Amino acid sequence: MGQHSFESARQSFSVARRCTLVCALIFAGACDSEKDTPQVPLPSAPSVTPTLPEQPTPQDTIDVNAAATEPFNDEIVIAGQRFSIGAPVVLWSDPGGYDAYSTEPFFEGEPRADGPTGLRYKPGRARGTEDFIEPSLNELASLIDQFVLHFDVCGVSRQCFKVLQDIRGLSVHFMLDIDGTLYQTLDLRETAWHARQANPRSIGIEIANIGAYAPDRASDLDKWYTLDEFGWRIALPERLGDGGVRTPDFVGRPARPERVRGVIQNDELEQFDFTAQQYDTLVKLSVVLCKVLPNIEPDAPRDARGIVRTGALSPGDFESFRGILGHDHITSGKSDPGPAMDWERFLDRVREKL
Ligand SMILES: [Zn+2]
Repeated sequence: MGQHSFESARQSFSVARRCTLVCALIFAGACDSEKDTPQVPLPSAPSVTPTLPEQPTPQDTIDVNAAATEPFNDEIVIAGQRFSIGAPVVLWSDPGGYDAYSTEPFFEGEPRADGPTGLRYKPGRARGTEDFIEPSLNELASLIDQFVLHFDVCGVSRQCFKVLQDIRGLSVHFMLDIDGTLYQTLDLRETAWHARQANPRSIGIEIANIGAYAPDRASDLDKWYTLDEFGWRIALPERLGDGGVRTPDFVGRPARPERVRGVIQNDELEQFDFTAQQYDTLVKLSVVLCKVLPNIEPDAPRDARGIVRTGALSPGDFESFRGILGHDHITSGKSDPGPAMDWERFLDRVREKL
């Protein structure tokens, strides 16, 4: 997703109403997708076969609060095969999962006459000039070379899926909630609609975070965060309840204590960092993606000085880039994953584990 340009339009709305509109507007202007009519219907629930010998094994302990002591699924699905990432994963087929294969609205009670219909993704992957195919793992590894990071501007993954599935008719492979739970909504062999020209060659993730704001609007962030004796913590609006966050009574804190200010696409923005739990899961997921789909290199787009870039790449640079990148590197109107994204530390950790 992305942000601003609608900032002035939303000033007059109440806080509660504001978020829903923000999410809707953000999707309206962001995450443009190539929504071709699906041509090759695939099974909605890919069969799962035993893991490959090269399956990475988790080596770290999991640090997602108390609930981590209970057994949890830690496997993602890539071309029908399961891979352990060592962090909590909820698949689209699991209880409490978010199923982007569905052609129906996910949430009950708020029917929208103008809501999306049909598939919210493109089954399979394009290979050259051929029609979309259902790729094997090896074929997928040859087709995928980018992993795109977004922030969701919805605050929690449940709200993100509501906007994607029920309001905008879009999709993304992964959603990463504030407690570090990773939701997978589609097998990675499907083409999700999350970043237009990157869709055919990429995997996408929406990281739960309310987004980045111009400094004169940054006080809006105080409505999503509150100060206690230990510092800033996430405080969800009352209307969201527990936000669908799976860790009971989870207390989410930005990985860095203060708002981070930075320049994205030449605009100065402020944002609270992602949680430590989100970084932990993002690192573990990225390690597995880089191993199983090795055309994804563990690096981000850099300028001539070697600094991670903060704006859209030229068409040529985009074409040749293989690795992990932000939506802002793809589309000039986007600011996600935002100035708080701690690229260097994140990439260092990924490379360490690789
Ligand atoms: Zn985005």
